[in-house]
Parts: sequence; C-alpha cells; structure tokens
Amino acid sequence: MTIRRLLIAGLVLVVATHAGATEPDRRCQAAIAAAGRKIFSRSLSILASCARTPARDHHVDCLASPVTRRIRDAMAAETRRFLEGACTDDQVAALGPAGDCTGVATVAELSACLRATHEADTEGLLALAGPRGPLDAAARVCAATVSLEARRAAVVRLRHVQRCKASPEQWGVLPGVACVAAPALIRSLARRSERAIGKIVSACQGETVAPTFGGPCDAPATTEDLARCVVDASAAAADRAVAAEYPDPSFCGDGGEGVERRIDALLAQMTLTEELDQMHGTGFQDDMWRTAPNERLGIPGLGMLDGPRGVSLIAGRGTSFPVAMARGAAWDAALEQRVGEAIADEVRAKGASVLLAPTINLLRHPRWGRAQETYGEDPLHVGRMGVGFIRGAQRHTIASAKHFAVNSIEDTRLVVDVSIDERALREVYLPHFRMAVEQGHVGSVMAAYNKVNGRFNAENFHLLRDILKGEWRFRGFVESDWFVATHSTANSVMAGLDIEMPVAVYYGEPLESAVEEGGAVQTWAIDDAVRRVLRAKFCFRLDSDPPVPDPSRIETPAHLDLALDAAREGIVLLRNNGGALPLDRSRITSLAVVGSLASIANLGDQGSSVVAPSFAMTPLDGIRELGGAIDVRYVPGPPLSAQDQDAVATADAAVVIAGLAPQDEGEGGGGPTGDRITLELGTDQEELITAVAALNPRTIVVLEAGSAVTMPWVSAVPAILFAWYPGQMGGQAIAEVLFGEIDPSGRLPLSFPRDEEDLPKFDNLHAAVRYGYFHGYRWLDRRRVAPLFAFGSGLSYTTFRYSNLALSPLSIGPFGRLRVTVDVTNTGDVAGDEVVQLYVATGPSQVVRAVRDLRDFTRVHLEPGQTRTVPLEVRARDLAYWDVNANAWRVEPTSYRVQVGRSSRSLPFAASFTVTAR
Ligand code: BGC
Repeated sequence: MTIRRLLIAGLVLVVATHAGATEPDRRCQAAIAAAGRKIFSRSLSILASCARTPARDHHVDCLASPVTRRIRDAMAAETRRFLEGACTDDQVAALGPAGDCTGVATVAELSACLRATHEADTEGLLALAGPRGPLDAAARVCAATVSLEARRAAVVRLRHVQRCKASPEQWGVLPGVACVAAPALIRSLARRSERAIGKIVSACQGETVAPTFGGPCDAPATTEDLARCVVDASAAAADRAVAAEYPDPSFCGDGGEGVERRIDALLAQMTLTEELDQMHGTGFQDDMWRTAPNERLGIPGLGMLDGPRGVSLIAGRGTSFPVAMARGAAWDAALEQRVGEAIADEVRAKGASVLLAPTINLLRHPRWGRAQETYGEDPLHVGRMGVGFIRGAQRHTIASAKHFAVNSIEDTRLVVDVSIDERALREVYLPHFRMAVEQGHVGSVMAAYNKVNGRFNAENFHLLRDILKGEWRFRGFVESDWFVATHSTANSVMAGLDIEMPVAVYYGEPLESAVEEGGAVQTWAIDDAVRRVLRAKFCFRLDSDPPVPDPSRIETPAHLDLALDAAREGIVLLRNNGGALPLDRSRITSLAVVGSLASIANLGDQGSSVVAPSFAMTPLDGIRELGGAIDVRYVPGPPLSAQDQDAVATADAAVVIAGLAPQDEGEGGGGPTGDRITLELGTDQEELITAVAALNPRTIVVLEAGSAVTMPWVSAVPAILFAWYPGQMGGQAIAEVLFGEIDPSGRLPLSFPRDEEDLPKFDNLHAAVRYGYFHGYRWLDRRRVAPLFAFGSGLSYTTFRYSNLALSPLSIGPFGRLRVTVDVTNTGDVAGDEVVQLYVATGPSQVVRAVRDLRDFTRVHLEPGQTRTVPLEVRARDLAYWDVNANAWRVEPTSYRVQVGRSSRSLPFAASFTVTAR
C-alpha cells in the first residue's frame, strides 16, 4: 500500500467509525454556521438596498457596482478572520463541508467558498423576486413586498435549519430524516410561510405579475401561485446555503447520530461470525435475493430485487415502465423521481428492501447490449436522471447505483480489463456516480464484473476506497455484482467490498479463516464493512418499519398512469417532412399499420431487468383504440403479398413499426443476446420500410430499440418517431403522438451516427480494451462529423423561439456560479414542452477539451404564444479538469462560452464569461 492509500484508508476509518465530535470541532462548526448566516443575510440586504437605488432598477447592475463590491470584500475579510480564529485547516478538512463547498479543505478555501456560494444564492433569489423593467407605483409596491418577504423567508429558514442541525434530537429528527424534512421544522416554518404568502397576495392583488418576475416564478397563474413560488425559491436558496456549511449527512439525514452509537454498541457485542454473516448473500429465497438477519441482536436481513424498468419478474407481476433510455429521452429528473418512487413502492410491496437500480453506466457506444438500462451518453444528463430515480426510490427502499464502474460492454463483461487514464475516468466515467452519492445520497453501490486498469471492480482499492468511500465520503455499502464478480477474499475486503452477492464464495468461512490467520485482512476493514451495512439498515429503518408485502401496490392505476406519462415524454420525433405528422383523424379514413412488432408487447431485455406486467398495450392496440372510425389495416410483413401492397398503397397513410427486440440486444455477456452485432436494423426491416415508402408517400416509421440505429433509408420516408421500448402503456403513447393528441417532446440522450464508422471502435471481442476521453457527441464534434440525429435533438409539432440570453455576473471565481436566463416562446399553435440545453465551450486551456460540454438543461411547458424566462446555471467547479500531475481538480482561470439552444448541434445563442483565479 502506498502512503497515500494508507492516509486515505485512515480518513475512511475516521469517517466510518463513530468518534463523536469534540468540543473544538463543535465550536468550529458553530462558527461556520454563524459566518454563513451573516454573509447570507447581509448579502440579501446589500443587494436589496442597491436594487432600490434610483436608476438601478435592474439589480444586475448592482453586482458590478464598486460600492457593492467594496462592502462585500470587507465582509469577506471579516469572515475569514473570524473563521481563522475558530477553526484550523485540519478541522475544516475533517468536517468536510458539503453542497457547493464539497472538497474544500482549508479555512481560506472555506471562507472563499462561503462567500461565493452564499452571494450566488442570494443573487439568484433576488433576481427572481426583483422587478424586471419599469413598473408603475402599484407594481412597485408588489415587487417590494415580494422582495422583502422572499428575503425574510430565506433568512428565517436558514436560521431554523441551522438550529435543527445543531441539536436534531430536540427537533425529534428520526434516523434517515434531514432537518428540512423533519415534521417539527416543517410545521414551524409553514406558519411563517403562510403569513408571507398572505402579505404577497394582498400587496400584489390585481397586478399583472407575469412578466415582472424571473424564472421559475415567471408564469404564475395567480398571485397566490407567485407567492408560493417565491417562498419555495427562498427555501431552496436557504437550503443550498446551509448545505455548503455542514458535512453531508447522506441517507442517514440529520437524525443519524443515534444510529452510530447503536452500531458502536452492536459491534461490541457481535462475534466475528455474526459480523461476517452481515457481509454476504444467502442466495435466492422466497422470491428475492437475501442476506441473513441476526435475530439475537435484532438486525434485519436485506431483500434485494431488480430493477431499472420495474420490479423484477422473479417476484411476480409488476408495472413495466419504459426502459431507462426512454426516460432519459424525457430529460425530466422530476418525472424520473416519480418513476423511481413507483418502482421502489412495488419492490417494497414485494417485501424487499433494496432496489437494484438505477443503472448509470455511461453509454460509450450504442452497440452495448444493456444500453436500454441506462439513460444516455452524457455524464451530467445520466447523473441528473439517476439522482432523480434515487431520490424517489429511497422514499421506500435502499437504491443501488450500478455498475461501478466503467461497465459498458456486455459480451466480455466478466473478464474485460478497461484501461483508462485518470482524467477520462474522473471527468467522463465517474461524475454520474459521484452525483448519485453526493446529491442522491444513494444507500448502496454495486461493484461491476469487469476490471478497470488491471483490477476487478470488486477488489479495486482505488475505485472503492480512494474515490468512492474516501473522496466522495460514501457512507453506504458496496455489494458485488452477481455470482462471479468477486475474485478474492483479502483483496476484496481490504479494497472495500462490503457484501459478496448472492452467496458466500470468498466471504463467509474463507473470510473467517483469513481473519483468524491474521495479516492480510485487518479487522478495521471488517468493522467498517459491517458498520456500513448496519448503517444502511438502521437509517432506512428496516428494523422499525420493515417492508410488508402488499399486492394492492402493484400495477396500481397511478403507476400505470405514470408509465403512460413516461412513455409520452420519451418519444422522439426525429423527422417530419411536409407535415406528415400528426395524422388528422377528421381527414384520414384508412391507415395501414405494417410490421410484426406492431402487435407485440416489445418491452425490452429479458435479463435481470425483465418485468412481468399483467397486460401491455401494443402499438396496434393503441392505434385501433385511438383511431376511432379509421379503417386500420394490419399488415405484418415481410413479405408483402399483392393484397398487402394494395392495402398499403390505397391507405391514406402507412405506419411501419420496426426496430429491435430482446433477441437483438440485452444482458448476458457471451449468451444469446448481449451486445448488438451492428447498428443496422437488418435487411428484412430495411427492405420493408423502403417497400412501404415506395407504395405510400405518407409513410411514418416508428422505431423501437434501446439505442441508436443507422438509417440508410432515412430520406425515403417523411416521418420517423423513436419510441424505444416504451413500457406496457407504450402503445397508447405512440398512438397519441401519431394522432397529435400530445406533442412529441422527447430529445435524444445519445448521438445517432450516420454510420457506425463515425463512432469510436466498439471492441467486445478482446479481454483488454482502452477507453479514451472522447465518445458520443464530444467525439463527433471533435472530428467535425455530422451525426444523423444529434445528441439533444428532437422535433415538435410546435415551434419555439429563443431570445434575450443574459449572463450574470460576467466574471466568477473558482467557487462562483454563473446565472443564465433565456426567454423561450412557443410560436406555434399547440402546447408543447421544450428542453432548453446549455453547453459550455472552454477558451484557451492547459489540456485538450471537448468542443462543448452539456452543463445544464431544463424542460419547460409552454402554451401557444406563451413566453417563459428559463433560469439555468453553471458552477465554476463543474468546469474543472482533472490535473493528472497534481492528482487534483483544477478550475481553470480562462474564458468560457455559454451556448444555449435545443440540441448539441443547434445552439444559436452564445455569450462569454470568465473564471478568475481567485
Ligand atoms: C446484473 C445486475 C443485477 C444482478 C441481480 C447481474 O447479473 O449485472 O444488474 O442487478 O444480476 O439480478
């Protein structure tokens, strides 16, 4: 072990054992909170008074004002002196502030970070609550009240949350609950919020508020909606500020202290065998994968079930949601949160406590067999979706982010060794896992089958201990992937594998012998593993509130509605020439539906992610049901008989349902499915499409698949919809889009190449492969190769106009945050959702950078004619690169360019900003 590894192992041990905070640590933490509170409230009042100054009725000017800067600089100097008197660098490093100050390790860095983050939080809040443009007297009163109440609400909440964090027992905060979710705190703040809302409503009554306020409160239906939105935004600003002042309490929430004491007591009583029993599976029993309980000590076992698109078939019936890639195409983390919650609800209703999902491996190449299980090719996008899923799921069960890490080839998954340099690892293949830990507070992580840089994941010290448990301070447990992912006893334990699944091969007895022999397995590593397992069990309250089987929670009407919503949001309209879509039911009398997939419930892979719904609506079912009086002629084909050809040629339009099925792509390295052999659809289907297109000029192709297909026939058809594997309600969603009942609003979460040759090589034959820094849109951009359909792209039945791109401030420090707003208008005739995307291009740099990287996105709904001001942001820290020489992140002081638009290849709006060294 290198010295660095020993040091990190020591840090892990400190984090993992319960030492209890010392008096000086408590004083330091109290000082950080006091400093944060002061910066936050003073920054709010400075900005508010500046904004009131005549001729400065747009607060953004205030940021540039020398007066504001002087006051803020003085306040920052004062904060730094105060913190230097209260904390040492070691204390700051050991406390480990979280949120936007994650990773700061000295008093100086913390002072700078608190200033930058709290100022950004307050600026963001006042930008939203501040007036935009000239106002009459009544509107001024309204705006002033909104600003005042927003500030008050934020400060009061900040103070309350800080008090709760200082003594969570007094607020009755339970294990697994954060102060912000504690009922006592919610009650006490609710009364104040209602008062604030009342004041805003009475001051703003009768005002036309809509164009006056910034996003996300720019489109309130009523003044009460405005008031609630403002109060929510105040809460968000306060919570974000508090998060940067304290260590991350992870899934244990602020009530986790008692759990650590309880674990101390249990560890003192457990025999070695009892400890080791917590560290391996006991196989498949009673419809799920299990680990053993300890009845003597009242410790529950774990029950684990897949998976990414619904509760696993091994436990019986379940709602089949669209596959994760389809949900990735929705670009809607809030929807994904609801999906995660619903899947976990069903997992819990089967009596299980761990949901083996989400899959958040990056799609490096669309031929990967398990492409459908993940969300896409971009780390930020995959991370956001994964965090959404985890947040929802963990309301009911422990979630498991899998497969850690660099697992994106199926056929050789059990053996392949992926060589990758540290920069590509950190910047491309790990950020989404980090988000799952730091933002999603995931309770468990599954170690993948494959090797990374010569070491199997389940015994990869660098990945598990240095990074996951060390740098990211992950507090949950790591379990191995199934049967053949664990390869050793001592190496795995010491590297940080906590549970061997699904049965003990290297753990259990061999581990007991290794511990007794002494030497290779150190007992701290056993205690650390058991502590993590017990922590997850108790913080998720598996002892006091265990899952109880409840068949009434399976395939509920609400879950089916959600599956339908998810299918609707994920369908991507790739091409629509000459208004081929939507099909107008008042004009169309006959429709040919072609292809055998039209009448099949094509729900996705049959591997571990398989789900068994009680029914599924096929595309043909959906078209027939919604088609009303239309004469729907079903033609399976190929081949097309003369009668079929006549049916197609004489129909008003033809819909070909084509694509892939479980035999073409899926889980099962080296098995019957696995990776795709090609990105092509296959000659039969390609010929069927061109044959139908030759017979009927209004041919619409609906494709089902887990990732990209190439389309040499693209120009032969006027319209193409990509529906993925759309889940059991998918047939209805497809029909709704075809008939224009809803606007297609999915956007591609991966690039579709014209030709497979345009992408990096996919090698699923060799046991050793090398991954570089570039893939997906970054690869295509770098080579200036045009994709067939770009990452982020997707059409709509309406049109959107972007205007007024605004950046503030134009220069930020290394802990700073850039606020970006852009107005988006629905200029068409139907309501629709737009996914507004923000990319950043780096100016002169010390290292090779991507042409652009996705840095933020948001989905907005717009009625015809409606304009919304869409808020976006870029944190300087997210622009950092991994400096391989220093082994550290570097925020590079240079110029950057924000590009905003509707896909990675349609970014008509751009503006520059700089990041400064300090
Ligand atoms: C898969 C995992 C799955 C596990 C349990 C493994 O083969 O790779 O994704 O969770 O089986 O079913």
